[in-house]
Amino acid sequence: MEASRDFVYQKFCDYYRDPSNTIPAPIFLDQREFGYLTFKERFMIRHQRFTGIGNLRAVLSQTAPSDVYHSCAYYENPDFDMDKKGWLGADLVFDVDADHIPTSCNKIHDEFTCSKCGFSGRGITPEVCPVCEGTKFVTKTWPCELCIQSAREETAKMIDMLNNDFGFSLDEVHVFFSGHRGYHVHVENESVRSLDSMARKEIVDYATGLGLALLDKDAKEKQGKRNAKKFNLHNFGWNKRLKVGIQNFVQNASKEDLRKIGLKNYALLKNRETITARCVNEGRWESVSGVSVQTWLKLAEYVRDLQSAKIDTVVTTDVHRLIRMNGTLHGKTGLKKVEFPARNLYDFDPFTGAVAFKKGEVKVLISDAPEFKLNGQTLGPYRNETKELPVAAAVMLICKGRAEVAN
Ligand SMILES: [Zn+2]
Ligand SMILES: [Zn+2]
Repeated sequence: MEASRDFVYQKFCDYYRDPSNTIPAPIFLDQREFGYLTFKERFMIRHQRFTGIGNLRAVLSQTAPSDVYHSCAYYENPDFDMDKKGWLGADLVFDVDADHIPTSCNKIHDEFTCSKCGFSGRGITPEVCPVCEGTKFVTKTWPCELCIQSAREETAKMIDMLNNDFGFSLDEVHVFFSGHRGYHVHVENESVRSLDSMARKEIVDYATGLGLALLDKDAKEKQGKRNAKKFNLHNFGWNKRLKVGIQNFVQNASKEDLRKIGLKNYALLKNRETITARCVNEGRWESVSGVSVQTWLKLAEYVRDLQSAKIDTVVTTDVHRLIRMNGTLHGKTGLKKVEFPARNLYDFDPFTGAVAFKKGEVKVLISDAPEFKLNGQTLGPYRNETKELPVAAAVMLICKGRAEVAN
């Protein structure tokens, strides 16, 4: 145990001491609060201020922390106590993490155990223990490719909204692999800096589709055609998203898909082309016999849930939030947080691009690990076996509590 932690710590030291590993400085570095978790004592040191990336690098190479963070916020005095810092503004930040997305695989590889009563289960960790109402859990997770793919799809929706609905260019939207099971999206634009927590909550509600009004309240009501008049989708933002989503659904749905959302009438599946053209494009929602406006509304709600971006809402609304620093290592994987161009979301492979340790091999005793890919190699599955592994893989397994350095 001790030897394994020492091994990982040594690798983190090597990483931070190697000048060829670039750690990019965030903009306005000297106005940000920095914080880091010490590797051995697991102690969080906060309220640090650095005047340049050189000073920061010096501290990182001395201490080799487990995790390094900086504030999304800019302060007059980033090193003062919270209430005396003098908040000047903050980046707009979104966090997409497989921890919050119900994937089909998390029931297989994620486990949680309540620290208070020992209640345990598989899948997403609950916020509150159903047995003792405790809120602390020991979790065992795995950064699997399916999880990353789910997070990637949610990130794509978020980028699309920022780009097409909010009007930020793709160059203004900074996208990062988080180093674990997700992505961070930062907007560091002057126009978002002064937004308060409430304004950020409005943006979160937009992204998640919360409170989205499906019926137009201002539309004139006509006897008998009440909802048809009020349900009118235009070609921008969420309306466009619903329109395209409903179109896709009608084009591709099976009877089973209809049943899943509680629809028992299959009239939608006959003459799909005509129906999309007439109903969705022309807004003649009542023109298919047996399919009411209520049915379309139900379908719209279903599409809204599909199209909403599953972001961690607390991260965006917290204007004092600390976020992992670009170029630093994630203590749960040994992978780095890496930026890549927004348009490369689907091309960037974190299991290659975020690998920090490219050299050497080490012998480890692996308790259990699923099959995984790292740096172009397919490894595992392993169960109670001793193997010589590339350092990056060994570090990840040790960080995940699935292996120990073998003597
Ligand atoms: Zn409990
Ligand atoms: Zn998974």
